[in-house]
Amino acid sequence: MQKIFLLTPGPTSVPPEVLSAQSKPIIHHRTVEYGEIFMQVCEDLKYVFRTNNTVLVFTASGTGAMESAIVNLLSAGDKALVVKGGKFGERWAGICEAYGVKMIPIDMEWGDAVDPATVKAHLDKDKDIKAVCTTLCETSTGVLADIKSIGEIVKNTPAVLLVDAISGLGACEMQTDNWHVDVCVSGSQKGLMIPPGLAFASVSEKALKMSESSTLPKYYYRWSDYFKSLGKKQTPWTPAVSLVVGLAEALKLMKAEGIENVIARHAKLAEAARAGVKALGLELFPKVPADALTAIKVPEGIDGVKLKNMLDHKYDIKVAGGQAHLKGKIIRIAHLGYANYTDIVVGIAALEMSLADLGYKVEMGKGVKAALEVLHS
Ligand SMILES: *Cc1c(COP(=O)(O)O)cnc(C)c1O
Repeated sequence: MQKIFLLTPGPTSVPPEVLSAQSKPIIHHRTVEYGEIFMQVCEDLKYVFRTNNTVLVFTASGTGAMESAIVNLLSAGDKALVVKGGKFGERWAGICEAYGVKMIPIDMEWGDAVDPATVKAHLDKDKDIKAVCTTLCETSTGVLADIKSIGEIVKNTPAVLLVDAISGLGACEMQTDNWHVDVCVSGSQKGLMIPPGLAFASVSEKALKMSESSTLPKYYYRWSDYFKSLGKKQTPWTPAVSLVVGLAEALKLMKAEGIENVIARHAKLAEAARAGVKALGLELFPKVPADALTAIKVPEGIDGVKLKNMLDHKYDIKVAGGQAHLKGKIIRIAHLGYANYTDIVVGIAALEMSLADLGYKVEMGKGVKAALEVLHS
Protein backbone atom coordinates (compact mmCIF):
# COMPACT_ATOMS: atom_id res chain seq x y z
CA MET A 1 0.00 0.00 0.00
CA GLN A 2 1.29 3.41 -0.90
CA LYS A 3 0.16 6.80 0.34
CA ILE A 4 2.09 9.31 -1.68
CA PHE A 5 2.81 12.88 -0.61
CA LEU A 6 3.75 15.13 -3.48
CA LEU A 7 6.08 17.73 -2.00
CA THR A 8 7.68 18.73 -5.29
CA PRO A 9 7.81 22.30 -6.62
CA GLY A 10 5.51 21.40 -9.48
CA PRO A 11 3.42 19.55 -10.14
CA THR A 12 1.80 20.05 -6.76
CA SER A 13 -1.13 18.17 -5.28
CA VAL A 14 -4.63 19.13 -6.33
CA PRO A 15 -7.55 19.73 -3.93
CA PRO A 16 -10.43 17.22 -4.17
CA GLU A 17 -12.90 20.00 -5.10
CA VAL A 18 -10.78 20.74 -8.15
CA LEU A 19 -10.36 17.09 -9.11
CA SER A 20 -14.10 16.49 -9.03
CA ALA A 21 -14.85 19.68 -11.00
CA GLN A 22 -12.43 18.49 -13.67
CA SER A 23 -14.07 15.11 -13.97
CA LYS A 24 -17.46 16.55 -14.96
CA PRO A 25 -18.70 15.76 -18.48
CA ILE A 26 -16.85 17.78 -21.07
CA ILE A 27 -18.50 20.93 -22.42
CA HIS A 28 -17.89 22.60 -25.76
CA HIS A 29 -15.62 25.62 -25.74
CA ARG A 30 -17.61 27.76 -28.19
CA THR A 31 -20.67 27.95 -25.96
CA VAL A 32 -22.22 30.48 -23.61
CA GLU A 33 -21.70 28.06 -20.72
CA TYR A 34 -17.95 27.80 -21.32
CA GLY A 35 -17.65 31.52 -22.03
CA GLU A 36 -19.03 32.33 -18.61
CA ILE A 37 -16.63 30.00 -16.83
CA PHE A 38 -13.71 31.31 -18.88
CA MET A 39 -14.51 34.97 -18.20
CA GLN A 40 -14.79 34.26 -14.48
CA VAL A 41 -11.38 32.56 -14.61
CA CYS A 42 -9.87 35.58 -16.40
CA GLU A 43 -11.29 37.92 -13.74
CA ASP A 44 -10.15 35.75 -10.84
CA LEU A 45 -6.67 35.43 -12.32
CA LYS A 46 -6.40 39.23 -12.16
CA TYR A 47 -7.19 39.01 -8.47
CA VAL A 48 -4.39 36.50 -7.88
CA PHE A 49 -1.93 38.38 -10.13
CA ARG A 50 -2.93 41.63 -8.43
CA THR A 51 -3.43 43.38 -11.72
CA ASN A 52 -6.01 45.27 -13.69
CA ASN A 53 -4.29 44.17 -16.90
CA THR A 54 -5.61 41.38 -19.05
CA VAL A 55 -4.27 37.94 -18.17
CA LEU A 56 -4.00 35.72 -21.25
CA VAL A 57 -4.55 31.97 -20.91
CA PHE A 58 -2.61 29.47 -23.02
CA THR A 59 -2.89 25.72 -23.31
CA ALA A 60 0.78 25.03 -22.64
CA SER A 61 3.16 24.43 -19.80
CA GLY A 62 4.59 27.56 -18.17
CA THR A 63 7.41 27.82 -20.67
CA GLY A 64 4.84 28.52 -23.39
CA ALA A 65 3.81 31.76 -21.69
CA MET A 66 7.48 32.74 -21.34
CA GLU A 67 8.03 32.14 -25.04
CA SER A 68 4.87 34.10 -25.83
CA ALA A 69 6.31 37.12 -24.05
CA ILE A 70 9.55 37.07 -26.01
CA VAL A 71 8.00 36.51 -29.44
CA ASN A 72 5.26 39.09 -28.97
CA LEU A 73 7.45 41.87 -27.58
CA LEU A 74 10.76 41.66 -29.37
CA SER A 75 12.26 41.67 -32.84
CA ALA A 76 15.39 39.93 -34.11
CA GLY A 77 18.50 41.71 -32.87
CA ASP A 78 16.72 43.41 -29.96
CA LYS A 79 18.55 43.34 -26.66
CA ALA A 80 17.19 41.62 -23.56
CA LEU A 81 18.80 41.69 -20.12
CA VAL A 82 18.43 38.29 -18.50
CA VAL A 83 18.93 37.51 -14.82
CA LYS A 84 20.41 34.00 -14.79
CA GLY A 85 21.67 32.25 -11.64
CA GLY A 86 19.45 29.19 -12.04
CA LYS A 87 17.71 26.80 -14.38
CA PHE A 88 14.79 29.10 -15.05
CA GLY A 89 16.78 32.27 -15.58
CA GLU A 90 18.65 30.19 -18.13
CA ARG A 91 15.36 29.30 -19.75
CA TRP A 92 14.71 32.98 -20.50
CA ALA A 93 18.20 33.10 -22.01
CA GLY A 94 17.53 30.00 -24.11
CA ILE A 95 14.30 31.39 -25.52
CA CYS A 96 16.01 34.68 -26.40
CA GLU A 97 18.83 32.87 -28.15
CA ALA A 98 16.45 30.62 -30.07
CA TYR A 99 14.78 33.70 -31.58
CA GLY A 100 17.89 35.71 -32.35
CA VAL A 101 17.42 38.17 -29.50
CA LYS A 102 20.72 39.59 -28.22
CA MET A 103 20.83 38.25 -24.72
CA ILE A 104 22.81 40.17 -22.11
CA PRO A 105 23.25 37.87 -19.14
CA ILE A 106 23.55 38.79 -15.50
CA ASP A 107 25.51 35.75 -14.37
CA MET A 108 25.40 34.81 -10.71
CA GLU A 109 26.41 31.95 -8.48
CA TRP A 110 23.41 29.66 -8.15
CA GLY A 111 21.89 30.43 -4.76
CA ASP A 112 22.57 34.17 -4.95
CA ALA A 113 19.81 36.72 -5.48
CA VAL A 114 20.26 39.43 -8.10
CA ASP A 115 21.23 42.87 -6.83
CA PRO A 116 18.76 45.40 -8.31
CA ALA A 117 21.69 47.84 -8.59
CA THR A 118 23.24 45.52 -11.16
CA VAL A 119 20.06 45.69 -13.24
CA LYS A 120 20.17 49.48 -12.95
CA ALA A 121 23.82 49.66 -14.00
CA HIS A 122 23.07 47.69 -17.18
CA LEU A 123 20.05 49.81 -18.06
CA ASP A 124 21.98 53.05 -17.40
CA LYS A 125 24.84 51.89 -19.61
CA ASP A 126 22.80 50.49 -22.49
CA LYS A 127 19.70 52.44 -23.48
CA ASP A 128 18.83 49.91 -26.20
CA ILE A 129 17.78 47.18 -23.80
CA LYS A 130 14.14 46.44 -24.58
CA ALA A 131 13.29 43.80 -22.01
CA VAL A 132 14.45 42.71 -18.58
CA CYS A 133 13.78 39.03 -17.88
CA THR A 134 13.63 37.90 -14.26
CA THR A 135 12.34 35.10 -12.05
CA LEU A 136 10.32 35.76 -8.89
CA CYS A 137 11.10 32.40 -7.29
CA GLU A 138 14.03 30.65 -8.97
CA THR A 139 12.78 27.14 -8.29
CA SER A 140 16.11 25.45 -9.05
CA THR A 141 17.82 27.25 -6.15
CA GLY A 142 14.92 28.39 -3.96
CA VAL A 143 15.97 32.04 -4.32
CA LEU A 144 13.51 34.93 -4.12
CA ALA A 145 14.21 37.99 -6.29
CA ASP A 146 13.39 41.53 -5.22
CA ILE A 147 10.99 42.24 -8.09
CA LYS A 148 9.58 45.31 -6.37
CA SER A 149 12.95 47.10 -6.44
CA ILE A 150 13.68 45.95 -9.98
CA GLY A 151 10.26 47.27 -11.05
CA GLU A 152 11.08 50.70 -9.61
CA ILE A 153 14.16 50.78 -11.83
CA VAL A 154 12.72 49.39 -15.07
CA LYS A 155 9.60 51.57 -15.01
CA ASN A 156 11.74 54.66 -15.69
CA THR A 157 13.23 53.17 -18.85
CA PRO A 158 11.77 52.21 -22.24
CA ALA A 159 12.29 48.52 -21.36
CA VAL A 160 9.57 46.15 -20.25
CA LEU A 161 9.87 43.98 -17.15
CA LEU A 162 9.12 40.28 -17.61
CA VAL A 163 8.74 38.14 -14.51
CA ASP A 164 8.59 34.36 -14.45
CA ALA A 165 6.32 33.84 -11.46
CA ILE A 166 5.48 30.28 -12.41
CA SER A 167 6.36 28.84 -9.00
CA GLY A 168 6.11 32.14 -7.14
CA LEU A 169 2.54 33.16 -7.87
CA GLY A 170 0.18 32.27 -5.06
CA ALA A 171 3.09 31.51 -2.71
CA CYS A 172 5.29 34.61 -2.61
CA GLU A 173 4.11 38.21 -2.58
CA MET A 174 3.61 39.27 -6.19
CA GLN A 175 2.04 42.63 -6.94
CA THR A 176 2.00 42.89 -10.70
CA ASP A 177 0.65 46.43 -11.00
CA ASN A 178 2.12 48.06 -7.88
CA TRP A 179 5.54 46.69 -8.78
CA HIS A 180 5.30 47.86 -12.43
CA VAL A 181 5.61 44.37 -13.89
CA ASP A 182 4.74 44.46 -17.58
CA VAL A 183 4.39 40.76 -18.16
CA CYS A 184 3.87 38.38 -15.27
CA VAL A 185 3.99 34.77 -16.39
CA SER A 186 2.65 31.80 -14.48
CA GLY A 187 1.62 28.19 -14.88
CA SER A 188 -1.09 25.89 -13.60
CA GLN A 189 0.77 23.14 -11.76
CA LYS A 190 2.26 25.08 -8.85
CA GLY A 191 0.59 27.65 -6.61
CA LEU A 192 -2.63 27.56 -8.61
CA MET A 193 -3.29 23.98 -7.49
CA ILE A 194 -4.37 22.38 -10.75
CA PRO A 195 -2.60 19.82 -12.96
CA PRO A 196 -0.01 20.86 -15.58
CA GLY A 197 -1.24 22.22 -18.90
CA LEU A 198 -2.18 25.89 -18.60
CA ALA A 199 0.06 28.95 -18.76
CA PHE A 200 -0.71 32.61 -18.16
CA ALA A 201 0.69 36.02 -19.03
CA SER A 202 -0.50 39.41 -17.85
CA VAL A 203 0.06 42.21 -20.35
CA SER A 204 0.54 45.87 -19.37
CA GLU A 205 -0.20 48.91 -21.57
CA LYS A 206 3.54 49.39 -22.06
CA ALA A 207 3.91 45.77 -23.19
CA LEU A 208 0.89 46.02 -25.46
CA LYS A 209 2.38 49.09 -27.13
CA MET A 210 5.73 47.35 -27.61
CA SER A 211 4.03 44.27 -29.05
CA GLU A 212 2.69 46.38 -31.95
CA SER A 213 6.17 46.72 -33.43
CA SER A 214 7.44 43.19 -32.70
CA THR A 215 8.48 41.25 -35.78
CA LEU A 216 9.61 37.91 -34.35
CA PRO A 217 7.74 34.97 -35.91
CA LYS A 218 4.69 33.79 -33.99
CA TYR A 219 1.52 31.88 -34.62
CA TYR A 220 0.20 29.74 -31.76
CA TYR A 221 1.16 32.39 -29.22
CA ARG A 222 0.23 35.52 -31.19
CA TRP A 223 -1.21 37.73 -28.44
CA SER A 224 -3.37 39.79 -30.81
CA ASP A 225 -5.37 36.64 -31.64
CA TYR A 226 -5.91 36.00 -27.95
CA PHE A 227 -7.08 39.55 -27.34
CA LYS A 228 -9.45 39.32 -30.31
CA SER A 229 -10.90 36.01 -29.07
CA LEU A 230 -11.34 37.39 -25.56
CA GLY A 231 -13.97 39.70 -27.00
CA LYS A 232 -15.95 36.52 -27.78
CA LYS A 233 -15.16 35.02 -24.34
CA GLN A 234 -12.94 32.48 -26.03
CA THR A 235 -9.38 31.56 -26.94
CA PRO A 236 -8.23 31.30 -30.56
CA TRP A 237 -7.47 27.58 -30.27
CA THR A 238 -9.22 24.78 -28.44
CA PRO A 239 -8.54 25.31 -24.73
CA ALA A 240 -7.87 22.57 -22.18
CA VAL A 241 -11.52 22.75 -21.14
CA SER A 242 -11.24 20.45 -18.11
CA LEU A 243 -8.26 22.35 -16.75
CA VAL A 244 -10.08 25.66 -17.11
CA VAL A 245 -13.07 24.18 -15.25
CA GLY A 246 -10.69 22.94 -12.54
CA LEU A 247 -8.99 26.32 -12.40
CA ALA A 248 -12.33 28.05 -11.86
CA GLU A 249 -12.75 25.90 -8.76
CA ALA A 250 -9.16 26.44 -7.54
CA LEU A 251 -9.50 30.21 -7.92
CA LYS A 252 -12.74 30.06 -5.95
CA LEU A 253 -10.81 28.40 -3.12
CA MET A 254 -8.09 31.06 -3.28
CA LYS A 255 -10.63 33.88 -3.23
CA ALA A 256 -12.42 32.34 -0.27
CA GLU A 257 -9.14 32.18 1.65
CA GLY A 258 -8.09 35.62 0.45
CA ILE A 259 -4.83 36.20 -1.44
CA GLU A 260 -3.15 37.88 1.56
CA ASN A 261 -3.97 34.84 3.68
CA VAL A 262 -2.72 32.49 0.97
CA ILE A 263 0.61 34.34 0.98
CA ALA A 264 0.72 34.41 4.79
CA ARG A 265 0.07 30.66 4.92
CA HIS A 266 3.04 30.03 2.65
CA ALA A 267 5.22 32.33 4.75
CA LYS A 268 4.34 30.34 7.86
CA LEU A 269 4.93 26.97 6.19
CA ALA A 270 8.27 28.17 4.85
CA GLU A 271 9.33 29.49 8.24
CA ALA A 272 8.45 26.17 9.86
CA ALA A 273 10.29 24.17 7.20
CA ARG A 274 13.40 26.31 7.61
CA ALA A 275 13.29 26.00 11.40
CA GLY A 276 12.94 22.22 11.11
CA VAL A 277 15.83 21.91 8.71
CA LYS A 278 18.14 24.13 10.76
CA ALA A 279 17.31 22.24 13.96
CA LEU A 280 18.66 19.12 12.25
CA GLY A 281 21.93 20.92 11.69
CA LEU A 282 21.33 21.37 7.98
CA GLU A 283 21.87 24.56 5.97
CA LEU A 284 19.61 26.31 3.53
CA PHE A 285 20.95 26.62 -0.01
CA PRO A 286 19.55 30.02 -1.11
CA LYS A 287 20.93 33.28 0.28
CA VAL A 288 17.42 34.77 0.11
CA PRO A 289 14.89 31.95 0.42
CA ALA A 290 11.50 32.09 -1.28
CA ASP A 291 8.42 30.82 0.52
CA ALA A 292 7.37 28.35 -2.20
CA LEU A 293 10.00 25.74 -1.39
CA THR A 294 12.91 25.01 0.92
CA ALA A 295 16.17 24.11 -0.79
CA ILE A 296 18.54 22.34 1.58
CA LYS A 297 22.25 21.61 1.27
CA VAL A 298 22.81 17.88 1.57
CA PRO A 299 25.21 17.45 4.51
CA GLU A 300 28.81 16.36 4.06
CA GLY A 301 29.13 12.59 3.63
CA ILE A 302 25.54 12.03 2.50
CA ASP A 303 24.66 11.33 -1.13
CA GLY A 304 21.79 13.61 -2.14
CA VAL A 305 20.51 11.26 -4.80
CA LYS A 306 20.30 8.46 -2.22
CA LEU A 307 18.55 10.82 0.19
CA LYS A 308 15.93 11.73 -2.39
CA ASN A 309 15.44 8.06 -3.28
CA MET A 310 15.10 7.12 0.39
CA LEU A 311 12.39 9.73 0.89
CA ASP A 312 10.71 8.51 -2.27
CA HIS A 313 10.93 4.73 -2.03
CA LYS A 314 10.85 4.10 1.70
CA TYR A 315 8.53 6.88 2.85
CA ASP A 316 6.55 7.74 -0.32
CA ILE A 317 7.49 11.40 0.01
CA LYS A 318 8.22 12.99 -3.36
CA VAL A 319 10.72 15.82 -3.20
CA ALA A 320 12.98 17.32 -5.85
CA GLY A 321 16.73 16.92 -6.04
CA GLY A 322 19.20 19.40 -7.45
CA GLN A 323 19.30 20.25 -11.15
CA ALA A 324 22.38 20.52 -13.36
CA HIS A 325 25.58 20.89 -11.27
CA LEU A 326 23.52 20.78 -8.06
CA LYS A 327 22.45 17.17 -8.68
CA GLY A 328 23.11 15.23 -5.47
CA LYS A 329 24.08 18.44 -3.65
CA ILE A 330 20.70 19.81 -2.61
CA ILE A 331 17.17 18.59 -2.06
CA ARG A 332 14.10 20.76 -2.46
CA ILE A 333 10.95 20.35 -0.42
CA ALA A 334 8.00 22.35 -1.67
CA HIS A 335 5.23 23.81 0.46
CA LEU A 336 3.37 25.24 -2.46
CA GLY A 337 -0.29 25.53 -3.40
CA TYR A 338 -2.49 22.96 -1.69
CA ALA A 339 -0.11 22.73 1.28
CA ASN A 340 -0.86 22.91 4.95
CA TYR A 341 0.73 22.44 8.39
CA THR A 342 0.60 18.66 8.21
CA ASP A 343 2.60 18.63 4.96
CA ILE A 344 5.49 20.27 6.76
CA VAL A 345 5.33 17.81 9.64
CA VAL A 346 5.24 14.87 7.22
CA GLY A 347 8.10 16.29 5.14
CA ILE A 348 10.43 17.03 8.05
CA ALA A 349 9.63 13.73 9.77
CA ALA A 350 10.47 11.76 6.64
CA LEU A 351 13.63 13.82 6.16
CA GLU A 352 14.76 12.95 9.69
CA MET A 353 14.16 9.24 9.17
CA SER A 354 15.81 9.21 5.75
CA LEU A 355 18.87 11.03 7.03
CA ALA A 356 19.12 8.57 9.92
CA ASP A 357 18.78 5.65 7.48
CA LEU A 358 21.79 7.00 5.61
CA GLY A 359 23.91 7.34 8.74
CA TYR A 360 23.51 11.03 9.49
CA LYS A 361 23.31 11.72 13.21
CA VAL A 362 19.74 12.69 13.99
CA GLU A 363 18.14 13.33 17.33
CA MET A 364 14.72 11.99 16.33
CA GLY A 365 11.98 14.58 16.44
CA LYS A 366 14.26 17.58 16.79
CA GLY A 367 13.40 18.98 13.36
CA VAL A 368 9.71 18.23 13.75
CA LYS A 369 9.70 19.88 17.18
CA ALA A 370 11.25 23.08 15.79
CA ALA A 371 8.72 23.10 12.95
CA LEU A 372 5.80 22.55 15.33
CA GLU A 373 6.98 25.41 17.51
CA VAL A 374 6.69 27.74 14.53
CA LEU A 375 3.40 26.29 13.31
CA HIS A 376 1.82 26.44 16.74
CA SER A 377 3.00 29.98 17.56
C1 LIG B 1 8.09 25.10 -13.04
C2 LIG B 1 8.75 26.34 -13.51
C3 LIG B 1 8.76 26.68 -14.86
C4 LIG B 1 8.12 25.80 -15.79
O1 LIG B 1 7.92 25.34 -16.65
P1 LIG B 1 7.07 24.29 -17.41
O2 LIG B 1 7.13 24.73 -18.79
O3 LIG B 1 5.71 24.36 -16.80
O4 LIG B 1 7.77 22.99 -17.17
C5 LIG B 1 9.33 27.85 -15.26
N1 LIG B 1 9.87 28.69 -14.36
C6 LIG B 1 9.86 28.40 -13.05
C7 LIG B 1 10.46 29.37 -12.10
C8 LIG B 1 9.31 27.21 -12.59
O5 LIG B 1 9.30 26.92 -11.30
